[in-house]
Amino acid sequence: MTTTTPALVAYGDAVRRYDPVIGIEVHVELGTRTKMFCPAEQSFGAEPNTQTTPVSLGLPGALPVVNGTAVEYAIRIGLALNCQIAESCRFARKNYFYPDVPKNFQTSQYDEPIAFDGWLDVELEDGTVHRVEIERAHMEEDAGKNTHVGGSAGRIHGAEYSLVDYNRAGVPLVEIVTRPITGAGERAPEVARAYVQALRDIFRVLDVSEARMERGNVRADVNLSLRATPEAPLGTRTETKNVNSFRSVERAVRYEVSRQAAILDAGRSVVQETRHFHEEDGSTSPGRVKSDAEDYRYFPEPDLVPVAPSRAWVEEIRATLPELPQARRRRLHDEWGFADAEMRDVVNAGALDLIEATVAAGATAAAARKWWMGELARRAKQEEAELADLAITPAQIGELQQLVDAGRINDKIARQVLDGVLAGEGDPEQVVVSRGLEIVSDDGPLLVAIDEALAAQPDVVEKVRGGNQGPVGAIIGAVMKATRGQADAKRVRELVLERIAG
Ligand code: MN
Repeated sequence: MTTTTPALVAYGDAVRRYDPVIGIEVHVELGTRTKMFCPAEQSFGAEPNTQTTPVSLGLPGALPVVNGTAVEYAIRIGLALNCQIAESCRFARKNYFYPDVPKNFQTSQYDEPIAFDGWLDVELEDGTVHRVEIERAHMEEDAGKNTHVGGSAGRIHGAEYSLVDYNRAGVPLVEIVTRPITGAGERAPEVARAYVQALRDIFRVLDVSEARMERGNVRADVNLSLRATPEAPLGTRTETKNVNSFRSVERAVRYEVSRQAAILDAGRSVVQETRHFHEEDGSTSPGRVKSDAEDYRYFPEPDLVPVAPSRAWVEEIRATLPELPQARRRRLHDEWGFADAEMRDVVNAGALDLIEATVAAGATAAAARKWWMGELARRAKQEEAELADLAITPAQIGELQQLVDAGRINDKIARQVLDGVLAGEGDPEQVVVSRGLEIVSDDGPLLVAIDEALAAQPDVVEKVRGGNQGPVGAIIGAVMKATRGQADAKRVRELVLERIAG
């Protein structure tokens, strides 16, 4: 129970009176086969302490060697974030004692990061673009993992005992640090979220990390401070550590805005400290008073030579960068001819890849969008699933649309075909055949059904012969029913009128 924090200020009130400034540090675990400074393998979910070497255990005399693939991945990230790549840079020791850091220092980079001075344009859900300046992206290693058993909330305080797993110790990380992000105003929480999401998307297309938030592959430290006006100097910031989902990034910013506003309103000062984020209620609580850099007693790592990527190598890497997510979205937007709002809905629904693959399977963009954003979105919502998790592939949707285009099924029957595919009955063609759903295009069976319907409703036939075509719908309806909706209604109408006239 803390009595030192005044009640929160409502978010809307807080951002009317204060200008929020955010700063985000993102750590991404690189998907290299081995660790940053030793040949221990790294893979998720291995038995504790089975992926170690003397280097990652910090044993005396063990000497580190830099993982070249990790350096390449760091350069890829730097280039994708429009950074300069250092001609030469060194590693540094960041000294601190904690049981999951077996060497008592983390090998990191300090004043010589591999990448610096970049930027990233991030797009909010309504299409607004906010430019985030990147101060640096540096290489370092991950710590091991402590598990505190007993006590509350898994924290060391109050725990009965602690377990340490060094499998993660020495896993390559790139840490990306922004300059203070200003000018976001009340949209600061959205900008923070969109930035982390944009980074995650970039890591994935660069193929440098699986970038799975839920596995902790990407972790964000969210700095926030308030100032009275956008002209005022920066206020005192807090740093909420290890925020592990996009939604939590947004909530952490919101909470700190409301909390710090209350402190400033009371005429008090925000304490510069790290804070923990609480998933249950979206609140933060104090961690430790933030060390200044000098407390870490950084000094150059004497066991490693400097990393000096040749300009030729950097250019080679630049030339092989894939199309980045934002450029791809713009290209597809142009190619598909969707309205801005349609495109945003597609992106927000996570349907971009699906529609692209459906188009590749032969559907038009409009048809692909109609299925994924219409019928399939409805079903995904029903099942509380992601579109991509539905048991249907873009190739199958392409095939379904081809069946419609060929006139073999209509849109209404196509939905029954979807049922079949989703139920695991096979590809659309197979479902059409096994369920007998093909449209009856042969006039023979139609005429049989039409004659039966005419015979059953002689009064309608009389009226139509008398010049009143209105009631003909009743005959057509009966025929469609008899053919289970598989007749072409237009052809049925033609035949019915011919039959009555003849
Ligand atoms: Mn770090």
